[in-house]
Amino acid sequence: MDNFLVSARKYRPDTFASVVGQDHVTRTLKNAIRSGQLAQSFLFTGPRGIGKTTCARILAKTINCENLTADIEPCNQCESCVSFNKNTSFNIHELDAASNNSVENIRSLIDQVRVPPHHGKYKIYIIDEVHMLSSQAFNAFLKTLEEPPAYAKFILATTERHKIIPTILSRCQIYDFKRISVDDIAQHLRFVADSEKVQAEEEALQIIAQKADGALRDALSIFDQLVSFTGKDLKYSMVVESLNVLDYDYYFTITSHLVHGQLHDALLVLDKIIDSGFDGQHFLSGLGSHLRDLLIGQDERTVRLLEVGEKIKARYREQAIATDQAFLLRALDIVQKTDYTYKTTNNKRLQLEIALMQIAAPAMGATTPAAATTGGASAEVAKKKVVAESEPAVTPTPASPAPLYSHPKSEPTPVVAPPKLPETIKVASPKSSNPAKDFIPGSISIKDDIEPAVEKEEEEESLFDYESEEFRLAPKFGKEELIIAWREMINQITDDKPDLRSTLLSASPDPADNFVVTFEVSNLIQQVKIGENKHDIVPFLRDHLNNRFVTLDVIVSKVAPTDAPPVTAEEKFRHMAAKNHALIDLQKKFELEP
Ligand SMILES: [Zn+2]
Repeated sequence: MDNFLVSARKYRPDTFASVVGQDHVTRTLKNAIRSGQLAQSFLFTGPRGIGKTTCARILAKTINCENLTADIEPCNQCESCVSFNKNTSFNIHELDAASNNSVENIRSLIDQVRVPPHHGKYKIYIIDEVHMLSSQAFNAFLKTLEEPPAYAKFILATTERHKIIPTILSRCQIYDFKRISVDDIAQHLRFVADSEKVQAEEEALQIIAQKADGALRDALSIFDQLVSFTGKDLKYSMVVESLNVLDYDYYFTITSHLVHGQLHDALLVLDKIIDSGFDGQHFLSGLGSHLRDLLIGQDERTVRLLEVGEKIKARYREQAIATDQAFLLRALDIVQKTDYTYKTTNNKRLQLEIALMQIAAPAMGATTPAAATTGGASAEVAKKKVVAESEPAVTPTPASPAPLYSHPKSEPTPVVAPPKLPETIKVASPKSSNPAKDFIPGSISIKDDIEPAVEKEEEEESLFDYESEEFRLAPKFGKEELIIAWREMINQITDDKPDLRSTLLSASPDPADNFVVTFEVSNLIQQVKIGENKHDIVPFLRDHLNNRFVTLDVIVSKVAPTDAPPVTAEEKFRHMAAKNHALIDLQKKFELEP
């Protein structure tokens, strides 16, 4: 790796033919040279890293070449070409206007323009990021640009064409450089990889090309970094991990779950994605792109629009054919709406989960959701705190998702229950004293029956005699002891439960009355996870706190997906308490109603 040259430099194109993805520009330039109708000034515009400066240099070299090839390419052998390639030619002057934008800079450039070339036909002045020139500098430059000597050519380059004043624009021949397609970039990377004897999986190069977003230079520098990081063997899995790109697999899997109405599987995939540190918005836009790609993959004619490698393309085709078009359109709509409200929502994770619930709903056979979601009905439901198993889940129909999203400010906090709950949660078990409590934001309790496996424990709990001497004399424990036991417990969680570990790690348990340990989790899935592991957690805490009356109360932290203003006294209190925790202490101290 010692003499590993930066690919962006080493493989910088040195002929028009080797320029990647800008055929329309190179063709026109060649034609102009061939017909001897070359303009005096050029403006190269387009995003960064796509070959504007490279083309400018090739143009400069070509018009000075002593033995142009029949195809209007520089020979790369004559004295002029060689000095260009060695960067020693006196006929090319580059000015980076981003750092040299003063009048003085332009004046010294203009002074140079007055001197004709010693060798060769043309002197070429390349001004990069020309929009950065100060207005005085622009004015000083204008005169020269208007009446340049015949041997001077100006190539101005900019990423922001709209910032160039019209008087300059009108004096230049304008060339629009395009974002380079993923395929073109991947092909070029393949060429570089082969030349450098780097083994690279096709999908790995595709991912790099995608990540570069149309900029070849970025693609090459990512490629260089990965090669120097991993040696000459680029694997897809490694590239995905290093670039923090969400593996296609996630999207294929989650889509398959949604199509088949396997909501809780989909939620678990989402959990994994978030656990792996991916940003929710990133996931959303990725899911949107995936759905779009599936739509495109449904028709033979549009398959070619997929900017992915052949192997992945085949997977897209397969899932596309197996997926109903109406499903895709509806899902896209939901994703787009969620994306729109995502930034402003407080509970971002819930927002994502709701989107998945909505997408999966029809396949789950969830029906008549309207009553639970629309306007006052939802408030009514929330007030009564009634969410029973038999009741339909709160899942807006595709036709009416609006109430949840379009007027977040005016909507009361909706009660959200996933349709067809995962089997591990049984809302409103017959034993539950207050079945409705279970899915009310802020007051979710898993003290009530979670699954049959813990029923015995539950019975045991309900048999606690709070008046008994044993209960009264049971050793009390404070926050400190609790935290020590808690950490001990986390240390003992096996590696196959990373999710549980991270949930418990982020929780801040508090001792409450009657030896109840309370803590908050941020979502339903975490709550379910705790429920599934309750029969391990509770005995552990009992053991380590030396108190057989310890129970758990898991609260899903305020899950309002909207920033609806607090309405009831309780809501107002919670709203204030969220900002100032001392209020909760006060409330406890004086035993106030919230
Ligand atoms: Zn030459």
